[in-house]
Amino acid sequence: MDEIKLSELDPRFKDEITSYPGAENFKRCFTCGTCTASCPVAEVNEEYDPRKIIRMAILGMRKEVLSSDIIWMCARCHTCYARCPQNVEFADVMGVLREMAVKAGYAPKERLSQIEELDRFIQDLRCNMVKYLLKPEEGQRKAIITMVNSKTSL
Ligand code: SF4
Ligand code: SF4
Repeated sequence: MDEIKLSELDPRFKDEITSYPGAENFKRCFTCGTCTASCPVAEVNEEYDPRKIIRMAILGMRKEVLSSDIIWMCARCHTCYARCPQNVEFADVMGVLREMAVKAGYAPKERLSQIEELDRFIQDLRCNMVKYLLKPEEGQRKAIITMVNSKTSL
């Protein structure tokens, strides 16, 4: 990482983030790294590190965080939240950072709506897969295949 310049840090950044619903516990993070260790995206992409993103945001590195492509990589699977000892809802913090990035002009509005649509799709798919695992019925299996095909044929 480049040198951190104290004069360029924005101490209000962390308070602004916590003012959004879902991000209230964000400042409780004590950098234990459990989120990074349990994140499926971090497992396949060494650039992606939720603990580091939180640390940068707490330090006040507004521009570096909001302009980074990294904030668009979270799959919002909530695995890290389930394991975080401080109840930091990182997927929601990511949602907040994305919204702030769009408002600040670092990313186009369309990117946020596309990502939100993809998030909804993944949640629905996960729900259908869990239903099928609990009750394997043919109708449910077909619904899953139709869902997946609707995306892969685009
Ligand atoms: S698991 Fe929670 S407390 Fe630990 S680094 Fe991640 S966000 Fe911070
Ligand atoms: S919500 Fe995002 S940061 Fe947390 S485990 Fe899932 S992909 Fe990783």
